[in-house]
Amino acid sequence: MDLSFSPEEIAFQQEVRDFLASHLPEHISDAVRSGVELPREIYQEWHEILGRKGWLCTSWPKEYGGPGWTPVERYLFDVECSRAHTPRIVAFGPHMLGPVIQEFGNDRQKAEILPSIASGEVWWAQGYSEPGAGSDLASLKTRAVRDGDHYVVNGQKTWTTLGQHADKIFCLVRTSTEGKPQQGISFLLMDIDTPGIEVRPIRLIEGGHEVNEVFFDNVRVPVENLVGEENKGWTIAKFLLTHERTNIAGVGTSMQALVEVKDLARQMKRNGRPLIEDPLFAARIARVEVDLEAMKITNLRMLFQAQKQGHPGPETSILKIKGTQVNQELRDLARRALGPVAAPFPGQMTETNLLFGPADTEHNAAIYFNNRKTSIFGGSNEIQRNILTKTMLGL
Ligand SMILES: Cc1cc2nc3c(=O)[nH]c(=O)nc-3n(C[C@H](O)[C@H](O)[C@H](O)COP(=O)(O)OP(=O)(O)OC[C@H]3O[C@@H](n4cnc5c(N)ncnc54)[C@H](O)[C@@H]3O)c2cc1C
Repeated sequence: MDLSFSPEEIAFQQEVRDFLASHLPEHISDAVRSGVELPREIYQEWHEILGRKGWLCTSWPKEYGGPGWTPVERYLFDVECSRAHTPRIVAFGPHMLGPVIQEFGNDRQKAEILPSIASGEVWWAQGYSEPGAGSDLASLKTRAVRDGDHYVVNGQKTWTTLGQHADKIFCLVRTSTEGKPQQGISFLLMDIDTPGIEVRPIRLIEGGHEVNEVFFDNVRVPVENLVGEENKGWTIAKFLLTHERTNIAGVGTSMQALVEVKDLARQMKRNGRPLIEDPLFAARIARVEVDLEAMKITNLRMLFQAQKQGHPGPETSILKIKGTQVNQELRDLARRALGPVAAPFPGQMTETNLLFGPADTEHNAAIYFNNRKTSIFGGSNEIQRNILTKTMLGL
């Protein structure tokens, strides 16, 4: 089996490198490299640069404004973007709602929604989780009651990532309490500035404002904003989640994190010797590198499978579990390599605090804590194991 890239794929990789070298502004890559929380303007500028090139929605076919790339091309693009320190593409429009509209949307929704995502112009948020409805998503209670040609929505969503920046939000709402909980759920689109919607920040352990609570108080939403059929939203919800899980794997991000960990381990000293020469530390690096190599192949294998069957399947749970484990191990190794200089949070640093590490590491502790989330969001890793045992092992 030949695992090397073809000459065409290598040429494609070079094309991406050239594009990034000429189109990724330095102030954007500097912001990403420093590890600070990015403002909307940075994401927006980068999304629009990719949008103009037709490279924002990497998994979309050409007919909807995507590049029509093969799985290998998408993989190479991700890896090159991580290497160049681009912002991650905010996935809610490009990688979640986009595929949903292509599969379940009507012609009007396709014509209105897809171009505004592909250009990077409109930013979406994901309104799935509620207090008491995370792992057990089907127990969600946000109610949408039909009133003429509108739904009236009341309830609350939580953990809404970057909702403070969003223009619109896609939500799972309860339209019926008859039968099994899964049977009364619908998929509804809303402008986030509709009267009655309020977005409130949740502060995370590292001090960042990445997630929010969203409250709905008699919000009137046109019936035409329903995607698919009323009470059939559960099928759409599951379809979207398989796309979300493929993207959480973050192989490119982990490859870059591995380079950085090795760099740190060369710079930091233990007992007067570079840390990378410490056999215990080197063994941990080796183990995570082997896992990452296996992940690369698994990721490609699943991208090909998804292309063949038209959509990703439940096996994306493997990618989600392994991808987040590798990512968290790398963040832990970076923190351990820095030792005491990884401890201060950016806000606690003062001019008199001399515990600074090498360049670009002052946000290391914050990044470590922030990444604890990856084994929880997109469906916790325990839930992914449940999915695998049911769907793939038949247990
Ligand atoms: C940083 C962050 C960003 C997020 N962004 C979004 C977003 O943009 N939009 C959105 O809708 N949601 C978002 N989420 C929510 C996320 O999907 C949920 O947190 C996740 O599904 C877990 O739900 P929960 O928090 O209610 O925990 P719970 O469901 O209460 O789970 C608590 C613990 O119990 C375990 N557990 C629960 N049930 C089982 C079971 N049956 N078997 C084994 N173990 C179980 C879980 O694994 C977990 O460890 C985000 C979460 C985080 C942390």
